[in-house]
Amino acid sequence: MRKRILILGGTTEANALARALAERIDLDVVLSLAGRTETPARPPIPHRIGGFGGVDGLIDYLTSQSIRGVIDATHPFAAQMTRHAADACDRLDIPRLIFTRPAWNPVEGDQWQSVNGVDAAVKALGEVPKRVFLTVGRLSLSAFRQAEHHFYLVRSIDQPDESEMPRAVTLILARGPFTIDEETRLMREERIDVLVTKNSGGAQTDAKLQAARALQIPVIMIERPPLPEAQVTYDLQNALAFVETHGRAP
Ligand code: NAP
Repeated sequence: MRKRILILGGTTEANALARALAERIDLDVVLSLAGRTETPARPPIPHRIGGFGGVDGLIDYLTSQSIRGVIDATHPFAAQMTRHAADACDRLDIPRLIFTRPAWNPVEGDQWQSVNGVDAAVKALGEVPKRVFLTVGRLSLSAFRQAEHHFYLVRSIDQPDESEMPRAVTLILARGPFTIDEETRLMREERIDVLVTKNSGGAQTDAKLQAARALQIPVIMIERPPLPEAQVTYDLQNALAFVETHGRAP
């Protein structure tokens, strides 16, 4: 019987795992992408694109595709997908591993204010107009329309709709990694008062935190959403071992 592993992707971790599995024709894996990115790079392993249709749709997919294990390598803020995966795997008694990156932690010199959720970040900006560097992802921008008295330097991978953004905006379309020098120059040139970001973790986008530290710019850090308990790894080798254990045909 086929022993197929589903990888929920959309992240650097999922891409690294896909690359590591590209030559492993002895293992049957499928990578799932939500389909949010306009021009995603073609994955080197079999893949599918688009939502499953909630928990029930995911259960149908896992059953019809004989999935024997799920690696949830979605972004730490993709909480709905992670909850659906937890629910579906629990119900079908399928093993699940979260493959992610550790959260960022403040170090000496950082001025972080941790908040839970985007609305709390908007509130934390306060009443005094500020120049805000906003790197929260396209889908979270609209919340900042509640605070139009600030100026926003928005950086996004995909072009946001005008209706999704606050009005006083300079938009930069760019994908990390960025260097500390680039981030420092940008924040200096734009006279940034405060950085608002999500605690995504990882090395791709942490240069802005180092630049903020050096420039003594405060950071409003949106912390990760709480998720159902799970086995978690930060290590590609552990993710590969999971695929070997649960995905190898007898
Ligand atoms: P989300 O809020 O947790 O999920 C919303 C819905 O999108 C899910 O219920 C599911 O639809 C579908 N979905 C999400 N990830 C999927 C996947 N890998 N394969 C198939 N369907 C998926 O997720 P999100 O925050 O919108 O993120 C979407 C994707 O972008 C994820 O793959 C995530 O890894 C990536 N990403 C997210 C962020 C972020 O800040 N949130 C940042 C970078 C990358 P159904 O209910 O129909 O199954």
